[in-house]
Amino acid sequence: MAVQSLYRRYRPQRFSELKGQEHVVRALKNAVINSREGHAYLFSGPRGTGKTTTARILAKVLNCEKPIEGEPCCECGSCLAVQQGNSFDVIELDAASNNSVDDIRDIIAAASLGSPGRHKVYILDEVHMLSKNASAALLKTLEEPPSHVVFVLATTDPEKVAETIRSRTQHLQFHLLPIDELEAHVRWVVADAGIEISDEAIYAVLRQGAGSARDTLSALELSAATGGVLDEVTPVDEFVEAFIQFDAGRLLAAVANTVNFGRDPRTIVNDLVRHLRDCFLTQMAPQLVQLPESRMAVLTTQATHLGTPRIVKIIEGLGLSMNDMRNAPDSRVVLEVALVRLVHRELQTGVESLLARIERLEKELESRPTFAPAPVNPVTGKAVLGGRAAQDPSAPLVRPVVAPTPVVDTAPVVSGVGSAEQVAATWSTAVIGQLKGMSRAIAQMAKPIDRDGTLVLLVDNDPSAKRVSDNLPQMLGVIHQAAGGVCSVIVETRLAEARSAPIVRPDLIAEEDFIDPDEVKALPTISKASLKNELTDAFPGSELLSEEE
Ligand SMILES: [Zn+2]
Repeated sequence: MAVQSLYRRYRPQRFSELKGQEHVVRALKNAVINSREGHAYLFSGPRGTGKTTTARILAKVLNCEKPIEGEPCCECGSCLAVQQGNSFDVIELDAASNNSVDDIRDIIAAASLGSPGRHKVYILDEVHMLSKNASAALLKTLEEPPSHVVFVLATTDPEKVAETIRSRTQHLQFHLLPIDELEAHVRWVVADAGIEISDEAIYAVLRQGAGSARDTLSALELSAATGGVLDEVTPVDEFVEAFIQFDAGRLLAAVANTVNFGRDPRTIVNDLVRHLRDCFLTQMAPQLVQLPESRMAVLTTQATHLGTPRIVKIIEGLGLSMNDMRNAPDSRVVLEVALVRLVHRELQTGVESLLARIERLEKELESRPTFAPAPVNPVTGKAVLGGRAAQDPSAPLVRPVVAPTPVVDTAPVVSGVGSAEQVAATWSTAVIGQLKGMSRAIAQMAKPIDRDGTLVLLVDNDPSAKRVSDNLPQMLGVIHQAAGGVCSVIVETRLAEARSAPIVRPDLIAEEDFIDPDEVKALPTISKASLKNELTDAFPGSELLSEEE
């Protein structure tokens, strides 16, 4: 005996067994109970949502010998014949393979003949595939249908069905199933069929079914047959991880694996777009996401890491690649180029990518602790005992020192004692002008002064001080040359000027990774006391009359 597929075995036999299409069921049952069934129905909706199953139930109840409140009895000869697929009253045709005008003429000729039951029901699947002439012939029949004939036209694409045909039918729309309903159904089938399967595998099954009852049960069957191991056909999580890491290599490997698995590049794009749309919805309208809770949590995390602007950008990029694939001889190459473009920073230009980076940095900032650095004793350079609680708002704002130790070049290109004063005077030409790339940008952060023969590089804040200190080894050669010999260099933080320091210096934007989260964070908090001081400084002789919180 051949093993019956789960989908066939659990195919609904009555209207009440249909899942998630209550509006359709109500309309059809009422029509049957009141004997007001139409001559032509158009059932539209995604694949696997029960269109032909519903058509068969309708055919069954219309010919049933003992219908019960609009439902077929499923016991009489007619019902059993329909269930076994050998009823003379029900004719099923796939318009995709019977789309010629002759096929339709045959149907029309047969339609006028009598049949054993009260109704002859024609189920015409994928009706949008009919040729123009065949559509015209069908239209003729629909205009003057024999009284005992009911046409059920099913389609996944109602827009492609001729308007003249659509307007002569009752159009009923089928929807994808809500995930909780589908999950309940799967769990019921699992229990009823005695299938051993883990929760994880059930979620994988639901993910693959994507709201289609038929696809879900097919996936369940496959999963059960392979002992719960269900290969995700498109490993969307792997793709998203690679996007998060900006890892082009990982993306290309994922494409290679998926294509080797027999997946078409267009389908990969579809799967990714659908997944990313769900990610996007977790941020914008979580109630619209049709996923089990545990899966929802995964997507929310992914969406947080990617950020909404980037998700939108990736969806747009994939959409464009879909267009390009139409005309390309090798759609895989188009997909690969699109993916690399989406993660390669240098290939991203314009304000959008800059904004995306700022957004990403802001995210990083939010996830860092926000407390201010502990106050430092200006004399010892060590943290003040008592920490932040003892912070004195009137404490001097000039604070040494991130790198107080004089840095001496171990391999000077010049000998003798150099002049710090000379370096400070010629900093922009003799030092900045001689440096390149990152070192040049970093040198621009510092304001050089000569303090008793030591070159002091003043910077706005601690993170800048760290960057300058870290880069000193690359700068020392040029500094010593400018000094005409070896000189000591120290880096100092100067908080007073930081208050007016810009966060983003347009002259440095060309530098990759210029925006350092530390720098953004280091904007000092202006205390009320110091703000008051500034106001009175700015308006000499003025007095603060009142202040509001
Ligand atoms: Zn019956």
